Amino acid sequence: MIAGIDLGTTNSLIGVMEAGFPVLLADAEGRRLTPSVVHYPAEAGAAPVVGAAAARVRLLQPARTVHSIKRFIGARGGETTTAEDAARMPYDVVAAPGAPVRVRLGEQLLSPEEISAQILAKLKADAERALGVSVDRAVITVPAYFNDAQRAATQRAGELAGFQVERILNEPTAAALTYGLQRLGERARVAVFDFGGGTFDLSILELREGLFQVLSTNGNTRLGGDDIDALVADELARRLQAALPAADPHAPLLRAALREAAEQAKIRLSDVLETPIEIPFAAGTESFACTFTRADLETLARPVVERTRRHCLRALEDAKCAASDLQAVVLVGGSTRMPLVRQFAGELFGREPDTTQHPDEAIALGAVIQAGILSGAVQNVTLLDVTPLSLGLETLGGLMNVLIPRNSTIPTKAGEMFTNAAAGQRAMRIHVLQGEREMARDNFSLGSFELEFESAPRGQARVGVQFSLDASGILTVLARDTKTGAERVVELRSAVDVSDQAVEQMLAGSLEHAFDDFHERRLTEARLKAEELLPAVRAALASAADLLPAAEQADITEKAAAVEAAIAGDSLPALQSAVRALDDATQALAAALVERAMEEAVLRKL
Ligand code: AMP
Repeated sequence: MIAGIDLGTTNSLIGVMEAGFPVLLADAEGRRLTPSVVHYPAEAGAAPVVGAAAARVRLLQPARTVHSIKRFIGARGGETTTAEDAARMPYDVVAAPGAPVRVRLGEQLLSPEEISAQILAKLKADAERALGVSVDRAVITVPAYFNDAQRAATQRAGELAGFQVERILNEPTAAALTYGLQRLGERARVAVFDFGGGTFDLSILELREGLFQVLSTNGNTRLGGDDIDALVADELARRLQAALPAADPHAPLLRAALREAAEQAKIRLSDVLETPIEIPFAAGTESFACTFTRADLETLARPVVERTRRHCLRALEDAKCAASDLQAVVLVGGSTRMPLVRQFAGELFGREPDTTQHPDEAIALGAVIQAGILSGAVQNVTLLDVTPLSLGLETLGGLMNVLIPRNSTIPTKAGEMFTNAAAGQRAMRIHVLQGEREMARDNFSLGSFELEFESAPRGQARVGVQFSLDASGILTVLARDTKTGAERVVELRSAVDVSDQAVEQMLAGSLEHAFDDFHERRLTEARLKAEELLPAVRAALASAADLLPAAEQADITEKAAAVEAAIAGDSLPALQSAVRALDDATQALAAALVERAMEEAVLRKL
């Protein structure tokens, strides 16, 4: 039996296919939403408590109760967003620069995967209790923007919980599956607008005769309802301070109360136009009360919602389609319950958004459908996903050589043959990169390894490199010396220094720096060519000294020196004209060499 799991930042869900229908399973108390919270009791040997029971002790024992662990999965210290998130958490996040993030709970240092595995193990146990059979295979969803390291860490969490992880599925794709299953056979392009507590994604999918293809995806996993709550809490703090100057809104308990009141008010304002807010004992025995209106909320929330616009436009552009080509805009994620968000999506896409999907359950149901596809319970459906960032290798001169371009349908494989840059070279460094920039140093480094090969003259070694990206978006790199068959296969499961904000910046940067990047690539390529040319010219000159007048020889030497100087400089036109001048100056030399070679050939024949 394969389960479908939505491993959410706030809540998680599990389900299976039953009699051909996707169903979500409830825990012993009848709840289908399991809070993604794990409490580690201080008593030695006590088992962790997961879900609603852990959520209840969260305020009482904040330092031993881990929530929002999804924010840290596959992350490393040293990234600004990780540092910001770590500072916000009431538990102790250890994030040394460059090292994988850990959570300290008393004596123990736990990885985000181990903590996530507790949540998954609880879902597994609940499902097994509900079904009476063992459930040991799973499809787990992740945000579309999760990078390789975050996906691999999620997969590891599943394995730690005792699952064989069949597939890591993008959340918007899962939502589209739920939407599209009832409409099989129709041909449609849909946008999935997923706005949750901490993440935003927009994906464009094409549904065609049982084929679901993700055409593009764009988003930001640091943009969501939490940002709105923070702004409302700040506004409430200002009102509180004005009404009760003795109150200290920065005190942790009051801050937590304001945040809680802000989120509750926001949620109520999706249904009503105004709501009372009360904070008991805000300053000593005095309480604070005010009225908050939907208009107040929308004034604060509009700039946050507006930030989704550029992601939507970028996804449309990448899918090469206009808003009018879409047959539906499907809203999922808790924040799409806000009237402002619905109105915004309606205006942006020029159509009434589809709200038929349950915003909290659509993703889990999609994971269940995917599980059904894999187990054969759902037929006539194929799912094709895409990779959000290009994958490639660093090549000579520090250039990025793309093997798998962004938005390629996965699973996919791509390969290229490389050779040695220097004679007698015995090893090649395979440096794997992810990103959209022309220069290797501007992209994310996924890792590097060395492949040893047989010594060969320059340009004679043959090293094949193949990237294969599996259906879960996890990359395996194979490098092989085609002469000896020596090879190395590396699965890139190690954490990468990539935050989602950095991915965002990468995409923005690739546009912003497109011109500079292009220039730098051309300059680097011209340098590499010129570096090859110089030794060839000098060798020819040495072998043909007797054929040319001294003045011409001096001219070539001078032009070669000019090329050398231009290689060191950074002007492309100067380098190009120096190379042209050297080309012109060597015309006679080349002709003389050809002539001599022909004469020698004729002599040999005689
Ligand atoms: P998700 O990550 O999809 O579970 O969404 C969680 C986010 O949705 C949180 O920021 C919640 O405050 C928000 N949310 C849940 N219900 C509502 C509602 N009725 N109106 C506005 N926001 C909501």
